[in-house]
Amino acid sequence: MAGRLKGKVAVVTAAGQGIGRAIAEAFVREGATVYATDVDKAKLDGIARAKKARLDVLSTRAVEAYAQKVGQIDVLVNVAGFVHHGTVLECSEKDWDFSFDLNVKAMHRAIRAFLPGMLERAAATGRSGSIINMASGASSLKGVPNRYVYGATKAAVIGLTKAVAADFVAKGIRCNAICPGTVRSPSWEERVEELGKSIGGKDKALEMFVARQPMGRVGNPEEIAALAVYLASDEAAFTTGTAIPVDGGFAN
Ligand code: NAD
Repeated sequence: MAGRLKGKVAVVTAAGQGIGRAIAEAFVREGATVYATDVDKAKLDGIARAKKARLDVLSTRAVEAYAQKVGQIDVLVNVAGFVHHGTVLECSEKDWDFSFDLNVKAMHRAIRAFLPGMLERAAATGRSGSIINMASGASSLKGVPNRYVYGATKAAVIGLTKAVAADFVAKGIRCNAICPGTVRSPSWEERVEELGKSIGGKDKALEMFVARQPMGRVGNPEEIAALAVYLASDEAAFTTGTAIPVDGGFAN
């Protein structure tokens, strides 16, 4: 099936690499007009047929200005996020604040900025708008060692998602969260490298990550993008307020 997002206008944050990039590329393939954004604009190079822009989701002013510029949209995908490694004892106030700013407040910023235009567009087209937030299996779904503040932020993402869904369910806006397990991405490769330094090599670190996955492998960004396409499309018109795992059994 192709053209599943034909006629839709979508904004994707953190589209430069990993899951965000796979989502932007899949949306383009399915016929959407895609605004692909990232704090590092150079990373957006090579995403064919997307409108590319630098957007730092830590800046309320920048997010509001960009939303003004883009105008009405059908789909907002909030992908930007950071993985802090450690327990509560390794998490300083600064670590806590940064993680919540990037992983949670950035979604608040983007939703506040884009939602008015999404409501207008939903009313004009008679088709629901879709907000998709990237949570994680490490969240309220599952406690994961050394993912203290990360897990707390991603649980907050699920709460935020459900609250937005409840407030706008009768106004043509759906809001859902995706909860990936471990997924191959540039930042994940760095985490493997980093962990390898403390446990005797990259191969050992890789084994540890795979051992967390009951399916015996990590996921690919395209496997997460497939769910994002579904949630963005009218096929998901009856789906809101969910937190859906795509995780090879990680949170089961
Ligand atoms: P990644 O971490 O490799 O890439 C992150 C991207 O975010 C980069 O392109 C970076 O430039 C961009 N970015 C960083 N700060 C930004 C900012 N202030 N404004 C805009 N963009 C910014 O990608 P990933 O590993 O695919 O992770 C993407 C999302 O998926 C994150 O929210 C992450 O928590 C979530 N997730 C990832 C995994 C995984 O195993 N990779 C698992 C579960 C959830």
